[in-house]
Amino acid sequence: MESLRSLKEGATELYERHPKACIGAAGATTAALVAAYAWRRAANYVPATGPYSPDTLPADAYDAAVVGAGPSGAVCGYFLAKGGGKVAVLDKETFPRDKYCGDAVCTPAIRILEEMGVLKELIDNNEAHFADAGGFVSPTGTSYIGVSKQKLGEAAACAVKRLHLDHRVAKNAQRNGADLKEGFEVTDAAFDKANGLWTVTSATGAKVRARTLVIADGATSRLATKLGYCKAPPKGVCSRAFVEGGSHNTNFDGVCFYPKWSLPGYAAIFRHPNDELNYCYYLIPCGEEGMCGDVKESDLARLHNDAIKNDPFISQALGPNAKLERMRAASLRCGSQGVPCTVDDHLLIVGDAAGHIDPLTGEGIHTAMMGGKAAAQTILDMRRTGDFSKQSCKSFERRWQHLFGHDFSLSQRMAEVVYKYPIILDAVASEMQRKGDSMMAKWAEIMTCMQPKTYFLRPDIATQLGIAVVREFFAQKVFGKPDRYTLKTSAPTKKTA
Ligand SMILES: Cc1cc2nc3c(=O)[nH]c(=O)nc-3n(C[C@H](O)[C@H](O)[C@H](O)COP(=O)(O)OP(=O)(O)OC[C@H]3O[C@@H](n4cnc5c(N)ncnc54)[C@H](O)[C@@H]3O)c2cc1C
Repeated sequence: MESLRSLKEGATELYERHPKACIGAAGATTAALVAAYAWRRAANYVPATGPYSPDTLPADAYDAAVVGAGPSGAVCGYFLAKGGGKVAVLDKETFPRDKYCGDAVCTPAIRILEEMGVLKELIDNNEAHFADAGGFVSPTGTSYIGVSKQKLGEAAACAVKRLHLDHRVAKNAQRNGADLKEGFEVTDAAFDKANGLWTVTSATGAKVRARTLVIADGATSRLATKLGYCKAPPKGVCSRAFVEGGSHNTNFDGVCFYPKWSLPGYAAIFRHPNDELNYCYYLIPCGEEGMCGDVKESDLARLHNDAIKNDPFISQALGPNAKLERMRAASLRCGSQGVPCTVDDHLLIVGDAAGHIDPLTGEGIHTAMMGGKAAAQTILDMRRTGDFSKQSCKSFERRWQHLFGHDFSLSQRMAEVVYKYPIILDAVASEMQRKGDSMMAKWAEIMTCMQPKTYFLRPDIATQLGIAVVREFFAQKVFGKPDRYTLKTSAPTKKTA
């Protein structure tokens, strides 16, 4: 009470001495508040009515044409059809088809698979392996492998071959009412403003008309590039090689290896059903333009193949008799790279085509699925209001920002920090050795997107991490902790590329 009274007296005194300045300051504050409120209203404004109610849709047209039936497109198709929308899902391939991937399906994607009824199908057909035993090897070779399922109450990830995953998700969308057109390679799409309809054309000249166009054609997104929404080619890359069951030494479910020469990139091994493995090597864009830390995309084959024989940890996990398939590779478009805007009039861009891959981990199946579902919800909303303008489509951007996009900038920053200060990863691994599975489970939660990266900033986590880094610094620099991560043959030097 006393302090309130003195505040009031102080304010009165100030006003008496400088009345004009006080009135000016109050006016400016009010104007700023009103402007901020108006800006927020405008940003969140969704028109209540528009010209395109469902009865205006021509009989041969769809509410949405989704280009690409990968996780983003097929999930979008499923939720649109489920919600009563008329949707065509177009893919140039015929399912089942392979897609180069690490096959690690994180918790948010597992939940969507469950909601769609696909998870049970995958389990019943022995196509999913749930991770329990896992961990990582740090840049100086400190390793920890523990179990996380019990601590987390569920598996943080499961491995499913994309051959199975994408097939089951696409066919599930079809079963639930989406018109899945396979072997439909989209070559063009044109918007007719007069009647608010897109015409999508295939390589054979077939045409599909739709109120909304959803671009979900993957990281290189030819369509978004052609239409001018995607402004640059993807900058990251990742390899994949399956390893025959029974031919290797691996007895864990999933481990990430962080050789210092390819940071912030990493290699990973995930276990599939039937003892098969997926070995992959991620190069994450970071540092100078065109670089993935100290290496370039063109170094991928060398790093991938070298590690099989010469990396002390990867070669040990694979063993001398591992039967690996030839290396395959595909692009990663991380953290919205090259796609500044994902909406326009009657148009949404989802999944890899929108750059919805986590810039720290290179994972994008879960974000593709979450984005696909958000796109479907947005289109269903617009179908109700009849307004498909860019303003309406913007609610898709708000949705994906809220779901996962807000994490991209911190992920990107963390990739840069890990690249510059690998000791952080050493500290985390040492801390895991000290604290055991509880620390491992926390790490797994963040890296598999059960928790946002801001979790690292929580006072208890940040303090623990800070102390661990100081401890690691002393261990390495004062007590000479040995570096166990050196290649058996010549190690790639910095700036090899
Ligand atoms: C090697 C590698 C490893 C990865 N590892 C993981 C991992 O372990 N976990 C994880 O979460 N993410 C991983 N990712 C990322 C993940 O693969 C993608 O984020 C995910 O596939 C995105 O799904 P999408 O539906 O947006 O695109 P895609 O899966 O690429 O699907 C695009 C679809 O569009 C179709 N298409 C393309 N062009 C046309 C056209 N013109 N007309 C019609 N159809 C067309 C394609 O045939 C395809 O079916 C990895 C990526 C790579 C390259």
